[in-house]
Amino acid sequence: MNKKKYYKKIFNYFKAEKKLIIVYFILSFVLVAFNTLTPVLSAKNLTAITNTNLDDMFKYALLILIVSFGNYIVSFFNNLCGMKIHDNVELKIKTEVSKEIFDLEIKNFDTEGTGFFINRIEREPGALSGVFTRVRYSLTGLLTSIGVFIYVFWTSPFFGIFFLLVSLLLFFLSVRRTKYWEKERKTMNEFNEKYSSNFSELIRGIKDIKVLNLKNILIKKTTKEQKEIINYTFDSRKNDEKFYILDNAIRYLIDFALIILGIILIKNNYLTGANFLVIFMYQHRAIYLIDEISDIYRNIKDFNISLERLYEIIDGSKYPKEKFGNKNIPNFNGSIEFRNTKFGYDNNEVLKGINFKINKNETIGIVGKSGVGKTTIFNLINKLYSVSDGEIFLDGIDINELDENTIRSNISTITQNPYIFNMSIKDNLKLVNPRLKDKEMVEKCRLCLLDEYVNNLDKKYDTLVGENGVILSGGLKQRLAIARALVKNSKIILLDEATSSLDNETQDYIHNSIKKIRNDYTILIIAHRLSTVIDCDKILVIDDGKVVGFDSHENLIKNNNIYKKLYQKELS
Ligand code: ADP
Repeated sequence: MNKKKYYKKIFNYFKAEKKLIIVYFILSFVLVAFNTLTPVLSAKNLTAITNTNLDDMFKYALLILIVSFGNYIVSFFNNLCGMKIHDNVELKIKTEVSKEIFDLEIKNFDTEGTGFFINRIEREPGALSGVFTRVRYSLTGLLTSIGVFIYVFWTSPFFGIFFLLVSLLLFFLSVRRTKYWEKERKTMNEFNEKYSSNFSELIRGIKDIKVLNLKNILIKKTTKEQKEIINYTFDSRKNDEKFYILDNAIRYLIDFALIILGIILIKNNYLTGANFLVIFMYQHRAIYLIDEISDIYRNIKDFNISLERLYEIIDGSKYPKEKFGNKNIPNFNGSIEFRNTKFGYDNNEVLKGINFKINKNETIGIVGKSGVGKTTIFNLINKLYSVSDGEIFLDGIDINELDENTIRSNISTITQNPYIFNMSIKDNLKLVNPRLKDKEMVEKCRLCLLDEYVNNLDKKYDTLVGENGVILSGGLKQRLAIARALVKNSKIILLDEATSSLDNETQDYIHNSIKKIRNDYTILIIAHRLSTVIDCDKILVIDDGKVVGFDSHENLIKNNNIYKKLYQKELS
């Protein structure tokens, strides 16, 4: 990871908040001044009390009151300012990371699971900008401590040296603690990611979990995972506790040593009782000097961990990004060619050298046994995955040379289980074509027998469909997805078992609708029922990762044994 580059990036996010940061620092300095003034005024007040100087007692008490009020007011605005900077930066980082997550190759989601990425985007931008909040607290604390330290040195150099030595001791302890903590944080992150990934899978599969009666088994499994996390957290807390006890023990010893030193100094007239009392009262602030430095050190480590975890996603080194070329085809025709194309998801080769050419405006059926690689062909045309060998050409240009927009705007895919957004029917359609006119929307919905259904709803096209179109039946979801593909107006339409949830009558109706538009689009149909593809211009027969036939139904039935068997199986 090129850390410098990313530090610069983060720095630029903060730079955009320049004005707020300037106000923040001005307020911080005022706060530091107030904080440093307090022990000085306390010392004066104590001297006045010791000398029973009533006028001075009143004067310093009033000043302490004013400084304390001032402190609270400035503190309030200082915190508001800090929070605003934090929120603005977090939003910017989140926006960038979300964008980058969309650019990741699909195979990252296959292997890591969606929960993994949700976890990173949920936690790390906040953690990153949160470091600013914590460092800003430490910084004000640090400056205050420096002020107090200077006061102590000025009042008694002996105590100054004493605090310096003590602080160094505490610092070394804190460095050791940070080392442990860093290791723990990394392990905890791994645990959390695994847990989120598994849990998000459970939530997505909630319906199946219920009907398969897996609730108890899976609760047991998640409890076991939780227990693992809790055990680890317990161990790390135990570690923390040990450091805490050691730290406290040292602090009690410091208190004791401080009093002894005080006795010696007062006895030898190096220090007055009042000054000693003030030093004793504010000793923690002086010792905090190193605490604050340790906190800053720890926060920088924390910052680096979050930065690394985010930039693993952003820079594409660990999780590969989609790569596109820069060629744009303004008038896309819609021809597709596979040339000796090979592809496997893992080491398992699915497509073993596929060759075929589909001309513009042809309608092609794709058949073959289940798991033979039909959907994989669609995945490759959409460039959701990249070929391992060979080539794919769209309009005669290598798919790797085309830009993202040319590929994604000219192809529409309708799957067996399409994703419908949680918005109204109209908005689902407008999402893919913001300039869609109501007239065209209704026209396209009529072609897929959707308009009639929508008109029977209370709010018609403005009806909300719920998460993933939950209020729609499987068949209606498919009809809406087909309508969405039609309004998108892409030259290539890929139908992957797109009508499988529909009854035979609706299926036939939609296939007839497709027939009406087939002369204007290149259409590829993967169909469970062969009868729905027999009138395609050609049918591509896939078997064992190869093309074993590519011809019209009539010719295939005469000459192709594999196709003949598939067809006869359907008739029987
Ligand atoms: P078909 O559409 O012909 O039923 P697919 O193209 O969906 O077949 O799948 C072809 C093979 O690739 C199958 O063995 C399937 O298990 C495997 N496969 C599909 N998607 C993935 C994936 N994301 N990761 C790993 N293997 C996959």
